[in-house]
Amino acid sequence: CGIVGILGQHEVAPTLVEALRRLEYRGYDSAGIATLKDGRLDRRRAVGKLVNLSDLLVHEPLAGKAGIGHTRWATHGAPNLANTHPHRAGPVAVVHNGIIENYRDLRTDLATKGIGHETDTDTETVALLTRHFMDQGLPPVEAAKRTIERLEGAYALLFLFDGEPDLLVAARKGSPLAVGHGTGEMFVGSDAIALAPMTDRVTYLDEGDIAVVTREGVTITDEKGNTVDRPVKRIRIGN
Ligand code: GLU
Repeated sequence: CGIVGILGQHEVAPTLVEALRRLEYRGYDSAGIATLKDGRLDRRRAVGKLVNLSDLLVHEPLAGKAGIGHTRWATHGAPNLANTHPHRAGPVAVVHNGIIENYRDLRTDLATKGIGHETDTDTETVALLTRHFMDQGLPPVEAAKRTIERLEGAYALLFLFDGEPDLLVAARKGSPLAVGHGTGEMFVGSDAIALAPMTDRVTYLDEGDIAVVTREGVTITDEKGNTVDRPVKRIRIGN
């Protein structure tokens, strides 16, 4: 239901949780974050209120300067820990708002390749497909793009990859997503309100856009695959 991502200069876990807090008003049943520490993916997730996630992080902190976070409003699968985002398959972690309508077909397809699923979510199929394409030798961005081509439904998606501490891939179709511009830092959020404490410069993705984000900036392609310029807007939202 809420998405946030940060390529930062500082530890991101506290900022991710704070940004998710700003999205609480949208409602949710569970929450989680994933970060890269020394290039390695790790995640913490908790069912229930964000305080459960922040309590968990006190006992099991998550270091790293790149990360993604999610508050979930379950549509496919009960609000339990296994179904809580971020979903991970090997080198990729994914958070998702919306519904992947063809997830059953994707599961069937994956099953013919010997790839099973471990959660009841539609979202997991996105992570499994991306890992599959990476296993076939595609670089992370291409694997994400190839996966997105296969998706039907409404989604905002954000990908974080093992060994790629300067990369986020974001995709928007039917669910809003904004890229926030910092100085040597970049942000992604499902809602500009989530990004307001970090930056007031925001680029809204259009339908079908895919954004490749690094700390230096963002490259956006439209649904035809053409590189496009989307305006940077100044937002004014009280903290
Ligand atoms: N369909 C996904 C799920 O049930 C995402 C729900 C959401 O937007 O939070 O896990």
